[in-house]
Amino acid sequence: MRDVFLPRSLEKLWTYLDESPGALVFAGGTDLLVKTFNGFPEGEALVCLDRIDELKEICQQGESIWIGACATHSGMVASRLVRNTLPALWKAVGEIGSPPVRNMGTIGGNICTASPAGDTLPPLYAMKAEVEILCREGARRLPIAQFIHGPGATGLQKAEIVSAVRIPKPQGLNLQHFEKVGLRSALACSVASLAALARLSPDRVVEEVSLAWGSVAPTVFTCPQAEETLVGRPLCAASLREAAEIVRHRVRPISDVRADAEYRRTVAGNLLLRLGTLS
Ligand SMILES: Cc1cc2nc3c(=O)[nH]c(=O)nc-3n(C[C@H](O)[C@H](O)[C@H](O)COP(=O)(O)OP(=O)(O)OC[C@H]3O[C@@H](n4cnc5c(N)ncnc54)[C@H](O)[C@@H]3O)c2cc1C
Repeated sequence: MRDVFLPRSLEKLWTYLDESPGALVFAGGTDLLVKTFNGFPEGEALVCLDRIDELKEICQQGESIWIGACATHSGMVASRLVRNTLPALWKAVGEIGSPPVRNMGTIGGNICTASPAGDTLPPLYAMKAEVEILCREGARRLPIAQFIHGPGATGLQKAEIVSAVRIPKPQGLNLQHFEKVGLRSALACSVASLAALARLSPDRVVEEVSLAWGSVAPTVFTCPQAEETLVGRPLCAASLREAAEIVRHRVRPISDVRADAEYRRTVAGNLLLRLGTLS
């Protein structure tokens, strides 16, 4: 038997965490449920964040979009703000799991699980998102690439939670793209994925580009060398082929039940080639 606490306010949350310092926080429980099958630590209390309304808000403040950690994937799919301003993230969350998983699973849970296959992560890396971390004493923020240390490892300390993600509102971008390759079209973890944001001139010269791949390295993979190869040149087959070759050399994929490393390496480059076909 373990205690499960369901606070409805941050004040209550801090009280529970003070009383049970070894407690494990969770939100939708979709990743936690899988961990329970593998037997997670006995005796630890559980604290559910999903009844705390202020952790669910999605809003714009100045030039930033804030998404509360307990915003569900379905909530983000339904958000006009996310759809209109963050289309790459909107596409990514719309493809997570299945409707029940999207109804329960949250962006905070996806970030804290820190899986290289987490579908919100490539768009968040490409958009240079920051993770807001909260404890009773106050808040701090970390760029997502610094918050995630490796598979399942983050910069969260004891008695801290992720409260929100801050995303700089994309300015002047005319390409915001996400594509995931899985073994089937639903309920599939990615074999490889790519989020790409770019500003193209009227004659399709790349003025600015930000790229991030999922499932091809221990954490989300970014490749400044490939971005440099594209900038200042038209987004055409020749420049994309050159950049894709750089990416294939630099990714560090693993072989697992879903795909072998060589396949992932090939797909990582091919996802980039696809940008040439987008209008
Ligand atoms: C059938 C199935 C299909 C899936 N398909 C996909 C998929 O296609 N793509 C994908 O990316 N993922 C997928 N997932 C994984 C999962 O649904 C997502 O990662 C989801 O976003 C997790 O959110 P959650 O709120 O359920 O996390 P939880 O299970 O509640 O928590 C996950 C972890 O994060 C911690 N945590 C959660 N919220 C916070 C917080 N605010 N602060 C601090 N720590 C926190 C918990 O302690 C736990 O360690 C799938 C899962 C299942 C079961």
